[in-house]
Amino acid sequence: MTLRTIDSLGPLAGKRVVVRCDLNVPLKDGVITDDGRVRASIPTIRALTSQGARVIVVSHLGRPEGAPDPKYSLAPAAVRLGELLEAPVALASDTVGPDAEAKVAALGDGEVLVLENLRFNPGETSKDGAERRAFAEQLAAFADAVVSDGFGVVHRKQASVWDLEQLRPSAAGLLIAAELDVLDRLTESPERPYAVVLGGSKVSDKLGVIAHLLPRVDTLLIGGGMLFTFLAAKGHPVGSSLLEADQIETVRGYLAKAEELGVDIVLPTDIVVAASFSADAEHVVTTAEAIEETPFGASGLGLDIGPETAAAFAERIRGSKTVFWNGPMGVFELAPFAAGTRAIAGALTETEGLSVVGGGDSAAAVRQLGFADDAFGHISTGGGASLEFLEGKKLPGLEVLGWQ
Ligand code: ADP
Ligand code: MG
Repeated sequence: MTLRTIDSLGPLAGKRVVVRCDLNVPLKDGVITDDGRVRASIPTIRALTSQGARVIVVSHLGRPEGAPDPKYSLAPAAVRLGELLEAPVALASDTVGPDAEAKVAALGDGEVLVLENLRFNPGETSKDGAERRAFAEQLAAFADAVVSDGFGVVHRKQASVWDLEQLRPSAAGLLIAAELDVLDRLTESPERPYAVVLGGSKVSDKLGVIAHLLPRVDTLLIGGGMLFTFLAAKGHPVGSSLLEADQIETVRGYLAKAEELGVDIVLPTDIVVAASFSADAEHVVTTAEAIEETPFGASGLGLDIGPETAAAFAERIRGSKTVFWNGPMGVFELAPFAAGTRAIAGALTETEGLSVVGGGDSAAAVRQLGFADDAFGHISTGGGASLEFLEGKKLPGLEVLGWQ
């Protein structure tokens, strides 16, 4: 690990430091529903203001189409940032335009300014390297140094993540360092037994993770929508449950590989099967082999793991020294199908070893189900980024900070 740290930038008092954060918070009617990402960006900002740096925060929010769109303003995030820092935080009404220029010029030592959404500018996400670079140069004009701390975007080759860091002395912030510290332990030297719990919607989203983790883990517990492709690979009918028929062969390959490696792939023994995809749908618990033998026949939908499976998975989790969990066990958004996800989350909070939650929907699920962040060893702020890291991919936003 050779990530450049903030210390490597030398004394920063009076210096203008552009900090790339990930303030991409979920909003409902303009109100932040989960401020986890704003909280996660605080330590780095404080580390900089406390030494008298002039901090210029940049971030994206949502997916505006390269032009200003009030729906995606960073205003709510800037307000929340000010509350958490207990200090005034100014917001520029543009990213690199006249208001940003004026507010950067007026910024005092130890003060914080947020520039408006990076993605209001087409250069931020442009595939055209020259256009991206031109936007990065406009941002660099504000900076004596750059700190990159938006872990959620390090897998993206974007102007503020990749180009800007090459134009000024740059270093990783404390959030990126903390994320890598944990994720690196999962791939390099996990304490054993090491269990990985995978769920979520599609197995095709997680093929890279399965392939990379299979030789490294002791146990793989499979739930969520992907479990049905595993059941089908073993020759079981799955009713109308989520099934990726074109992945059955790949999954058979994983099952064979696991056997060869002595890795336990544990599949559910019981399933909650529903008549339709809705919160008030009639539903029953059946064995994994008998999904089509309910009153709903072949139209039955498997929407959660059953209670016997949840208990068995929980026991495996509690008996492990390292647990990584990605992907809800069922359709947790609908209350009758949240029990499996709740049981697995609970077990992760009870293990004495390192428990890590990765994945955007998984992190949202544990918070929605009422678990506190600090009940887990670590909840990654980056869904896609944490998965790509665990796939062993080289991430541009880390490479540019010296990570190999
Ligand atoms: P993450 O973002 O944590 O990586 P995914 O995006 O892979 O997770 O999957 C999350 C989604 O998977 C949730 O919206 C959930 O409703 C869905 N899901 C879980 N189990 C099932 C199932 N049995 N059938 C259909 N969808 C499911
Ligand atoms: Mg997701």
